[in-house]
Amino acid sequence: MNAPLSESHRLKSYACGEWFVGEGTGKQLFDATSGLPVSTIDSTGLDFQDMLAHGRRQGGASLRSMSFHQRALMLKGLGQALMADKESFYTYSTATGATRTDSWIDIEGGISTLLSYGSKGRRELPNTRMLVDGVPEPLSSDNTFSAQHILTPLEGVAVHINAFNFPCWGMLEKLAPTLLAGMPAIIKPASQTAYLTELMVQHIIATGILPEGALQLISGSVGDLLDHVTAQDVVTFTGSAATGQMLRVHPAIISHSTRFTMEADSLNAVVLGKDATPDTPEFDLFVREVAREMTTKAGQKCTAIRRVIVPREQADAVVSALSTRLGRTTVGDPNDENVRMGPLASLDQRCEVRERITELSAEAQIVYGNPDNPALVSGDAAKGAFVDPVLLYCDQPKGCEAIHSVEAFGPVCTLIPYESTDDAIELAALGGGSLVASVFTDDGEFARDVVAGLAPWHGRIMLGNRLSAKSSTGHGSPLPMLVHGGPGRAGGGEELGGIRAVKHYMQRSAVQGTPGLLSAVTGRWIPGAPVVVSEEHPFRKSLATLEIGDTVVTAGRTITLEDIEHFAHFTGDNFYAHMDEAAACANPFFDGRVAHGYLVVSFAAGLFVDPAPGPVLANYGVDNLRFLTPVYPEDTVQLSLTCKEINPRETDEHGEVRWDCTVTNQDAAVVAQYDVLTMVAKN
Ligand code: NAP
Repeated sequence: MNAPLSESHRLKSYACGEWFVGEGTGKQLFDATSGLPVSTIDSTGLDFQDMLAHGRRQGGASLRSMSFHQRALMLKGLGQALMADKESFYTYSTATGATRTDSWIDIEGGISTLLSYGSKGRRELPNTRMLVDGVPEPLSSDNTFSAQHILTPLEGVAVHINAFNFPCWGMLEKLAPTLLAGMPAIIKPASQTAYLTELMVQHIIATGILPEGALQLISGSVGDLLDHVTAQDVVTFTGSAATGQMLRVHPAIISHSTRFTMEADSLNAVVLGKDATPDTPEFDLFVREVAREMTTKAGQKCTAIRRVIVPREQADAVVSALSTRLGRTTVGDPNDENVRMGPLASLDQRCEVRERITELSAEAQIVYGNPDNPALVSGDAAKGAFVDPVLLYCDQPKGCEAIHSVEAFGPVCTLIPYESTDDAIELAALGGGSLVASVFTDDGEFARDVVAGLAPWHGRIMLGNRLSAKSSTGHGSPLPMLVHGGPGRAGGGEELGGIRAVKHYMQRSAVQGTPGLLSAVTGRWIPGAPVVVSEEHPFRKSLATLEIGDTVVTAGRTITLEDIEHFAHFTGDNFYAHMDEAAACANPFFDGRVAHGYLVVSFAAGLFVDPAPGPVLANYGVDNLRFLTPVYPEDTVQLSLTCKEINPRETDEHGEVRWDCTVTNQDAAVVAQYDVLTMVAKN
């Protein structure tokens, strides 16, 4: 049961393993709808230097002792536990002004991001503590000196300073890749909605799933924390450009080259294609998307559409269709189930949005909505932070500044006409770099040209048309597997994007040495490293005894013309290079008929496989298969198969084993090279 939100409710910080109540009077926070006090926030008395030290010493050490798969399972467990508790978060979320749908994006969207990293970590990362990055680089002709890039977790703390609009998702989308990388975090939520973040952190700590020190929370100001960050820490900031630009040049961040990522505000655009006239499905989809982006979370989304770029000849039709659509948006108390759009997060926020609308109005006229007098279906306009959705129109957008630079962080959009494709691209780029743009068109040529022009200025581009209408995830949804961030005005940062985000919390190093030493360091066999050829076939070894470098070198097999013809008839692959001597000779790569590459691979399997039941459970594919030298009739092939990488699973009685397979001919030329992938029992 949650403690009721009230004037006497004081938010706590979680520091050095203890819940801490600020020693000052603090700042009062208010319900977005009723205007009543909901809690007081204060971090006075916290020892921020101690928090950093605790995170580094205890949280970091524990996380780094775990493998990627163990950390991924930890995220999965945490996600499941939070999902089971989800209703308690909804109770507090309403106080932020969020409707049930808005809260779902924040709460379940955030938890799903944890679960997604829990699953990606096990599918896409090895069960190790060090990440091998890319392929080995041979640096000497005799293969005695090579290099391998590796990634190791930073030994500091990730300080996440978050915005008010997504108190759960904003925390979890950063926390998931941080913990998966093996780095502890200190979360500093924006004060306005910190009561929801604090509640979720209480649940997280209570699960006992995270090692102590992996997560700490600051409810209130960060005090002198940034004075104590070092070269191994990371600071990520989400919020307004003004605050971000100030923090980015903090003396400690500059002097230690502390990694600093910024996700700031963004004048995201949508472009309507010229083909998408009012009689097309794309026009309807576009209108629906713009209205949804304006009203979800009352427009308080960093990805929300702020500029609507439409063919000049369609401007009137768009104003009319959007006005009709927005007219159906019921504004009011988010507890009222008939309400589609709740209030802004606070009265301060409403003041701010109204000021920004005034600035925009100097260059554009309001064509829908009344910023000062919202039409409500419930709630009290005097007490709650309500605003109408407001649509503006700017007829001559090229010479304007405000419409391309002023972000009204609410349900506010400006409609802008364009003449040509180049014009539309130029207008979108005037935003100075954005998180996302979307394009509504069913014309492939327009899509190609406009995406090529938009891409350098945007972190994500969504194409909408009739075919994807049902499956599209929409303009405004950042997804765990896709990059979230944008150049220039958007902050120049990058978050999410699947495993890419994990690497933001790790150091990439190039390690040079003999292949043998590099294999010892990385736990992955690389060409040139010692091999062990023993009496016992490596397929007879379970994960308990198998080691990287274990090798089998097979006998040779001569491939005859009869074999080639038999394979051709059997499989139906009668390609001329295998079956027609004259045509094969005329081919620039061959001197006559050649064996099928797949025949070589099949014979190779026949040579290396040890057939009796044993620890090898299944072959699940090959990677990086290349045919490098033609195999002619009467050539003799043989191969060496070397255990390259062993990945035991945490939750199963088997693991994945990757084998290097090199097939050579009688002249020792490599004819085929690939990785064989198998499942092998632990015992
Ligand atoms: P904000 O006022 O800049 O605050 C952002 C965060 O910075 C808050 O946690 C705030 O804490 C903290 N902060 C303020 N001054 C600080 C200082 N001197 N030292 C350390 N921390 C400090 O922004 P906001 O109003 O919360 O968020 C709205 C903005 O965020 C919008 O412009 C929106 O576009 C942007 N946003 C961007 C993204 C993205 O991913 N690109 C996502 C969401 C929001 P207090 O609240 O305690 O002051």
